[in-house]
Amino acid sequence: MKRAAPIPVTVIGGFLGAGKTTFLNRLLATATARHAVLVNDFGEINVDAALIERHDGTTLSLSNGCVCCSIGSGFLETLGRLLDGGETFERIVIEASGVGDPWRIAEIALVEPDLRLDGVIVIADAKRITELIHDRRVGDTVRGQFDKCDVVLLSKSDVVSRAALHAARSAIQTVRPDAPVEVLSRDTRPDLLLMARSRRSRFNAERVEEHPLDHEEDFRRWTYRRNGAFDRSRLAAAIEALPPQLLRLKGTCRVAGEVAPLVFQMVSRDWSLSPAVGGNLDPGPIALVGIGTPDLPSDADLEAILDGALARALVA
Ligand SMILES: [Zn+2]
Repeated sequence: MKRAAPIPVTVIGGFLGAGKTTFLNRLLATATARHAVLVNDFGEINVDAALIERHDGTTLSLSNGCVCCSIGSGFLETLGRLLDGGETFERIVIEASGVGDPWRIAEIALVEPDLRLDGVIVIADAKRITELIHDRRVGDTVRGQFDKCDVVLLSKSDVVSRAALHAARSAIQTVRPDAPVEVLSRDTRPDLLLMARSRRSRFNAERVEEHPLDHEEDFRRWTYRRNGAFDRSRLAAAIEALPPQLLRLKGTCRVAGEVAPLVFQMVSRDWSLSPAVGGNLDPGPIALVGIGTPDLPSDADLEAILDGALARALVA
């Protein structure tokens, strides 16, 4: 089915925990157009898609794999269903997985006649990006995400010093000297930013060189499901005991003494528990997905650590 005008596509990329979903929610909250949102989670549970707050369009999730290096598996079918499904929307936003290469996904929009690539936005965590760019294990993936992006947005700028912010900007510019790097503040209007970018035509962009990517081999995912609840103080201790190879852990959990399920987020060793609002997360007891480097310890070792954080069952 050929459309009257191609639909603009924006791809949002950025490493694990950079703040892509937060940015996307802000974008949707201020949007005037109807959006179709596609969210790719590398983990088995579609945490990010579930955290997308209600909006006027549709949200589709692609979990358990990275669509940038396995384009054939599910992504094109999902996109095709979206385009042929009869639902009306004015823009498509695709959230790449935290290990994915956003440009690889953007290339789809360059070749699909019903789509028009509007821009590639990469979110970079101001607190971590300098270290990540130089990291021995993940640096290649992180640097590759800046490839051909239109703009880099520095997130979490309010928790770093001016010097650190400057260092983050410099580190990004060593990889992409020509890319604009903007600080994402509470006042940034993401929709205006997108419109500003969309005036640039991307059709003269040359295709990326064909270097094979396999994020399935570069990263390992792990899923942790339990009935019951965490004990908050034991959880803090367990997180300290988690190996550094575990880069990200997120999902929902029950915590002893709390009535509602909570959203758990961990990036590096920074973690938080917050109320689940707006999205449609599984209210089940504990469901977390972890993403780590290939040398991540065994599932059993990781499970033993988190099992130590479970609240002891109450004896009736
Ligand atoms: Zn990939």
